[in-house]
Amino acid sequence: MADQIKVFLNEDEIPRQWYNIQADLPHPLPPPLGPDGKPVTPDKLAPVFPMNLIEQEMSTERWIDIPEPVLEKLLLWRPSPLCRARALEKALGTPARIYYKNEGVSPAGSHKPNTAVAQAYYNKVFGINRLTTETGAGQWGCALSFACSLFGMHCRVYMVRISFDQKPYRKLMMQAWGGECLPSPSENTEVGRRILDDDPDTPGALGIAISEAIEDCVKSKDTRYSLGSVLNHVLLHQTIIGLEAQKQMEKISEYPDVVIGCCGGGSNFAGISFPYIRDKIHGKNLRVVGVEPTACPTLTKAPYVYDHGDTAGMTPLLAMHSLGHTFVPKPIHAGGLRYHGMAPLVSHVLREGLMEAAAIHQIECYEAAVLWARTEGHIPAPETSHAIAQAIREAKRAKEEGKEKVILFNWSGHGLMDLAGYDAYLQGHLHDYHLSDEDMKKSISSTESYPKPPSL
Ligand SMILES: *Cc1c(COP(=O)(O)O)cnc(C)c1O
Repeated sequence: MADQIKVFLNEDEIPRQWYNIQADLPHPLPPPLGPDGKPVTPDKLAPVFPMNLIEQEMSTERWIDIPEPVLEKLLLWRPSPLCRARALEKALGTPARIYYKNEGVSPAGSHKPNTAVAQAYYNKVFGINRLTTETGAGQWGCALSFACSLFGMHCRVYMVRISFDQKPYRKLMMQAWGGECLPSPSENTEVGRRILDDDPDTPGALGIAISEAIEDCVKSKDTRYSLGSVLNHVLLHQTIIGLEAQKQMEKISEYPDVVIGCCGGGSNFAGISFPYIRDKIHGKNLRVVGVEPTACPTLTKAPYVYDHGDTAGMTPLLAMHSLGHTFVPKPIHAGGLRYHGMAPLVSHVLREGLMEAAAIHQIECYEAAVLWARTEGHIPAPETSHAIAQAIREAKRAKEEGKEKVILFNWSGHGLMDLAGYDAYLQGHLHDYHLSDEDMKKSISSTESYPKPPSL
């Protein structure tokens, strides 16, 4: 049945466990370090995260049960469809078969609710009734507002000022789900007030918004902080994407030659690829490719170091590919891919030689996005267009080589709230940005005094 366009799973076929790649890594993941240079202990994280999620963060159990109440909420839109991009294949004239997992069908429009629902649940059962977080472009703030509404929790989102002003519809979505969305910097926190005193017209930054959300959390009762990517437990919750894809591919007797995902903090890429990397560790022959913007080349250019996850340096040191926590990416439209670091697990998997990384300029990505919209219909998020552009590169290579390659990628979200980027592209106003070696050297110098991760 390889000619099928959409492959569905029944609701009773939804995976009931998440896959933890930490159980299968050839070398263990270097631990996060505290300010004293020693591995962080769970009690140090307790003011910020609930203990049940801290345990998950550190777990090396291979399979972790998805709690029934979480499954019940995921069933609102999951299992997500696996689709074949027949019209795109035809337009490219490729012998390759291109499959994609459509994560744009979630209420918030991306893969992010997969972890938002799980995180809201674990906080709720731990007795927490309020979550704080930050959001850049607004996808994560929407996902967490939606998830909190399902469990009767309060959610406060610090949204980077410039996005708050430019993207009113994301803010309105958060409010529709009962979330509270504040422009950051705000008058609500000491950090925010200090920055506003210095510069009342600041556009804000993700690093500032993280600092505000953490300050708000540690100063409030019954409140914890929530992060939408990068951390081990977030990547774990996303593996339901790849586990579903494996069942769906099996139904049509297909197995991918290459698995592709775009990489911001690394969570949707990990979600589709980690179950396949498990196969690879056990001898399967396939390629796994993470795709990032050339303007923010974490995996393809940045060194593997210990660095902070936020600009203000409040988080523990994480072993990861990082452009330096003070790095300010150029204003490309894929806001969700403008992050200075990369998930420690994804960085480690690259070091282990279990994946490849590619970097693509935004204009090639928009060309791919528009070709996609005009063949397959759905308008992708600018982040997602990076995975599409790589899938197209692979399909063209298959054509040159005359090979029937099977390509699978994660369609991480729709772009219906991101049309300003399409406007800029269609009017010919977009630029490609290259990061010079000199600029990178400057930004990574902020990590030079930190401990070095052990070599393999
Ligand atoms: C947030 C986001 C991303 C990037 O985040 P990851 O953690 O790397 O997955 C990619 N695509 C969409 C649609 C997003 O909203």
